[in-house]
Amino acid sequence: MKFIEQSAEIIATNGGDKPLELIELCARTCYQSQDRITEGSAEKMVNMLVKNGHMAMIEHLVVTMRLITSRGVTHELVRHRMASYAQQSTRYCDSKDMHIIIPSWLQEYDVNSLYERYMTGKLLPPKDLEMYKRIERYFSVLSWIEDGYNKMLESGAKKQEARGVLPNDLATEIIVTANAREWLHILSLREDKAAHPDMQYLASLIRNRLSDYCPVLFEKK
Ligand SMILES: Cc1cc2nc3c(=O)[nH]c(=O)nc-3n(C[C@H](O)[C@H](O)[C@H](O)COP(=O)(O)OP(=O)(O)OC[C@H]3O[C@@H](n4cnc5c(N)ncnc54)[C@H](O)[C@@H]3O)c2cc1C
Repeated sequence: MKFIEQSAEIIATNGGDKPLELIELCARTCYQSQDRITEGSAEKMVNMLVKNGHMAMIEHLVVTMRLITSRGVTHELVRHRMASYAQQSTRYCDSKDMHIIIPSWLQEYDVNSLYERYMTGKLLPPKDLEMYKRIERYFSVLSWIEDGYNKMLESGAKKQEARGVLPNDLATEIIVTANAREWLHILSLREDKAAHPDMQYLASLIRNRLSDYCPVLFEKK
């Protein structure tokens, strides 16, 4: 078993290195004012569109991201209907070497070395005894699941049958394609404190990648 961090990367856009210019070109079509395109006019135009709520123009920018997160988080993410998805299948891919997303409540620990110590019977109680018990229980359930899953496959179960025992924190890869308006909508809901902490963390990674790509649209205001 291996514990891994969540991650987010942009793998494709239709705006290339000129996302604002693409939106400007689309917006200016409405007024046939393409002749007013100048150096710097795209940024002004996009800021004006957002300020006036003319968000339909923002939809012309499309971004595809590759996310590594947990099954629990993707279960929530795919509720966003204005996006397209491709997700690693637990029916066709096996999870013998189980990869687990480090949950937010364990983020301050070196989870892989804690787990190694747990497996060799050397997990030392940290200062907080309650936390120690929680971590031990978490590891114990996960190693039991991994063992059970592998034994099911060994005994002839199909992957789609054995997957029934897999945990919510199982790592998964998902490709998400959405337009910029929908990404902004997803971020507004998923960065909020009401969202699950793991989802909030993933949303912060998505925000960082998107604002590196197009700060005018995605930098947090
Ligand atoms: C903190 C949090 C807790 C949640 N808890 C639960 C829960 O306990 N149980 C549960 O079932 N879900 C839960 N959800 C999921 C939630 O109900 C939505 O399914 C999810 O957030 C997608 O939001 P959305 O519909 O606005 O966005 P999207 O599906 O991304 O759609 C974007 C926008 O398009 C428009 N739109 C999309 N489809 C339609 C349509 N058919 N008709 C009209 N307009 C449409 C709407 O304006 C919508 O806001 C939770 C979400 C959050 C953020």
